[in-house]
Amino acid sequence: QGERKRSEAKISQLTFEDIGGQESAKNELKEALDFLIHKDEIAKLGIRPLKGILLTGPPGTGKTLLAKAAAHYTNSIFVSASGSEFVEKYVGVGASRIRDMFKEAKMKAIKEKKESAVVFIDEIDVIGGKRDGGQHREYDQTLNQLLTEMDGIHTADTPRILMMAATNRKEMLDSALLRPGRFDRQIQVDLPDKKGRFHILNIHAKNKPIHNEVDLNKVAAESYGFSGAQLESVMNEAAIYAMRNKEKDIQHTHLSLAIDKVMLGEKTDKESTK
Ligand code: ATP
Repeated sequence: QGERKRSEAKISQLTFEDIGGQESAKNELKEALDFLIHKDEIAKLGIRPLKGILLTGPPGTGKTLLAKAAAHYTNSIFVSASGSEFVEKYVGVGASRIRDMFKEAKMKAIKEKKESAVVFIDEIDVIGGKRDGGQHREYDQTLNQLLTEMDGIHTADTPRILMMAATNRKEMLDSALLRPGRFDRQIQVDLPDKKGRFHILNIHAKNKPIHNEVDLNKVAAESYGFSGAQLESVMNEAAIYAMRNKEKDIQHTHLSLAIDKVMLGEKTDKESTK
């Protein structure tokens, strides 16, 4: 019972180069992470060390990828979970899972001889939603435990923990999470613009045979409003269309069909959940 359902603690190989578009989010994030890297100079100037970074924005825009790249950039262990993994029927289970997660991060960092660990919680709003007069006792305990872990005093002989979290519902978060010394850096991750979409399409085209007449700039123009996750689906669906047509490479028609399929698929999903 006390174990987290899915545990992931590893050294991330994913870098900022693997993330398409999101230039301003990447730059803001790198700048914040440089504080962590140059911690001695920061300490000399009396600057409060960075504790938490909150990534906000629509689903599928690369928030998880950014957290993984942050771990790689700072030579940290990466431990991740989704907010829903901490929601349990029994009071206290969520809180003890939070405790385990931080313990795991520290242990893994020591084992791998790393000075720091990035602890990432996706969908933080599930446990960090506004508290309303003790109605949700279980959630309260989980959130309180998270706050306690974030407030933990860092000593020279323990690995430093950088807390990262993602949400697409920032307005739902309890103000305690947004106070200085908690998630005091917030980075907006938006849907990619045309240039960003072109970059993302190129990243996901890397391992696929693309016909030399295909212009991914055109595909980027046709996929207005798509997230990175949807663009990844477009490339994958296009490859499936190519295979079905017994073609040896992906052609523009396959990509157009794939765009329609991804767009339609989203619509059907939305309608069926109405
Ligand atoms: P959610 O809020 O739904 O968890 P997210 O913002 O964390 O979404 P990711 O999990 O990082 O999104 O992205 C999902 C997948 O979509 C990635 O594994 C990747 O294949 C693709 N993807 C999303 N954004 C990008 C991007 N900017 N560059 C390259 N691939 C991307």
